[in-house]
Amino acid sequence: MVNGDRTLGRMSICWIAKNKPAPEVPLGKPRLEHLFRMTSIVSMCVRTQRLSTLATILLILLSCVGCGKRPQGFGHDAAVVENVVLVTIDTLRADHVGCFGYQSVRTGHLDSLAARGTRFAQAVTPVPLTLPSHASILTGTYPFFHGVRDMGGFVLQESPPTLATLLSRGGFHTAAFVGSVTLDHRYGVNRGFDTYDDEMPPAEAQPGPRKPERRAGAVVDHTLAWLATRPVGKFFVWVHFFDPHSPYDPPQPFRAQYAGRPYDGEIAYTDAQLGRLLEAIRDQGVSDRTLFVVMADHGESLGEHGESTHGIFLYDAAMHIPLIIAGPGVPAGQVIQGQVRSIAVMPTILAAVKVTSGDHLQGVSLWPLIEGRGDLFPEDRFALMETIYPRTHLGWSELRAVRTKEWKYIQAPQEELYNLLTDPTESRNAVKSDVAVTQRFKTVLSGALGEASHDLMLHPSTIPAEVRQELASLGYVSAGVGQPIKLDQSRPDPKMRVDLLPSFEAAITFMGQQQYERALPLLQTVVKADPTNPLFYLRLAFCYQSVNNTDAETKTYERAVQHHVETDEMLNRLGNLLLEARNYRRARTAFERALQLNPEHGESMKNLAICLFELGQLQESEKAFRTLLEHGSTQGPAHYGIGLIRLKQSRRSEAASEFQQAVQLDPKLWDAWFNLGICYHEIGKRQEAVRCLEEFSRGAPPEQFPQSIKQARALITRLQKAKS
Ligand SMILES: [Zn+2]
Repeated sequence: MVNGDRTLGRMSICWIAKNKPAPEVPLGKPRLEHLFRMTSIVSMCVRTQRLSTLATILLILLSCVGCGKRPQGFGHDAAVVENVVLVTIDTLRADHVGCFGYQSVRTGHLDSLAARGTRFAQAVTPVPLTLPSHASILTGTYPFFHGVRDMGGFVLQESPPTLATLLSRGGFHTAAFVGSVTLDHRYGVNRGFDTYDDEMPPAEAQPGPRKPERRAGAVVDHTLAWLATRPVGKFFVWVHFFDPHSPYDPPQPFRAQYAGRPYDGEIAYTDAQLGRLLEAIRDQGVSDRTLFVVMADHGESLGEHGESTHGIFLYDAAMHIPLIIAGPGVPAGQVIQGQVRSIAVMPTILAAVKVTSGDHLQGVSLWPLIEGRGDLFPEDRFALMETIYPRTHLGWSELRAVRTKEWKYIQAPQEELYNLLTDPTESRNAVKSDVAVTQRFKTVLSGALGEASHDLMLHPSTIPAEVRQELASLGYVSAGVGQPIKLDQSRPDPKMRVDLLPSFEAAITFMGQQQYERALPLLQTVVKADPTNPLFYLRLAFCYQSVNNTDAETKTYERAVQHHVETDEMLNRLGNLLLEARNYRRARTAFERALQLNPEHGESMKNLAICLFELGQLQESEKAFRTLLEHGSTQGPAHYGIGLIRLKQSRRSEAASEFQQAVQLDPKLWDAWFNLGICYHEIGKRQEAVRCLEEFSRGAPPEQFPQSIKQARALITRLQKAKS
């Protein structure tokens, strides 16, 4: 029944929706960020209550560490700041910026901004992932507080307030222009912006309704258009440049100028576009009343510690970010050497414009540092860090860390301690040689997160297929939605498994070149070495599918199930294989399990409905098809399925009505055209029957429907003869 051309009685039953998914096009580098939890659909699992408790624990502990009093009020007496411009440059390593000491790239605009303002030599992000990091910048809080722990499936909730909501309440016109779908408004980072421009350009090629990113030039064009027509009054604009993020693809002339170094080429290009933005603001005559904050959301590992991009590790390659602040009251040419955190940006901006923040902020204003009035309080000299990406994407342990100017302690199955002053590349683990320091930081970290950090459950959430596809095209490939996740560091240590990634990446490249025989042994090796990695199973199964080894493909999914790392996607694919083999009972179990993991998985729901139909459970099948009717993209197949059920019940007129709705919604549902023609014939509507059968025989692909096309043509001839 999967292959289209078969009959049930006199009716052709060929499920137009192909049960076997097409081999997925390998998506470049396996930069895989997880797609759990799309809370616009499913509410956040980690309740705000719990997060508030955690935050309280953190604040109490850190207050104890510091035993100091936080500054009250705005703590900033400088000249009047009317406007605020926040620029975040995605994936920009601090040490790839000219003013941070890098000689091999031209970043003249960043450098001149630093020359007229203050540069922070040691700014850090709490998380090496785009969406969580921006949520931290925009709320002044850590990910475990604001709840956006990972990419895709996490949404910023109504609380805490964002920088934009507070500035908007403070009378600012607010606008944001972002460079990628990773910051789509559906993830909640649009809160408080009057204008939120996340329009990506349409895709040049199918599939995909839009591109997942746009160049800095387009982002600046849109920003300048807004600036030119903005309402009178003070404004806050956030501009996000995505260009340095992989895939590295600088436009000319930067591609030629940085041949062989496309990451640097993207940085130089972005700097040039930053220049356009700064120039436009200068031309408006408001530069001297505008506070500029330019920073990155995280860095890029570029192969350090075995990681090519970012997300897996908490080393400085990905955690150390550039931060430059310039504007009224900011001393020119100043460099602050102490460690500062990106969660300090929001309180710093609020202090500059004298807008109160409420008491939820975990970052503190940097104005005492900027104005040379004092140092940070001791509790603010600790930076907490985390990444759950290894756990959610690769089945490895999540990581947590605490960093000071001198030290970084990383909590992992095998813990790490680095003296950043003597070992800035974090290559000599000092856990055993500096036992007292290790113990001190362990206490800080466990106190900050509390016992809750050891039984924190994250529940996988759903994400629309098109969003999954968009993120995948940026390298954020996940194996799908899996089991609820317990953050207990019980999985393999990422640093002990990261050496498998080059083989995995090579296999993905081979698959992209259709060299499956070369990819296969690499994937077999990584699965063997890392048997609880869902992504490795999925790719191995794709590879078997590509060489038509159905048996090995089925066994690969079954092994993933045995190791308890199955996802909605895997179970749906396993179910499809069982469906093809007409093993309906086992297929049904697989689809039901997929739907338990992700009730929004439309493909699984459709396939379950087909399975139930084949098992003769028409009532249950219809119920499943009716559920599908609620999914916009699957309504056509749902009407088709209900039509088939009506046929089985010998309710031909009703069947015709369902088929009619199916082809209206989806004119390429060829099975529905065929069956509609037959139905009309049987209820005596000859003219309609001929029209539908002609539509079918003209449009249906002959290789897919050889028999049905013959039958249709024969019937058309008969009907036309009968007419004459
Ligand atoms: Zn990013």
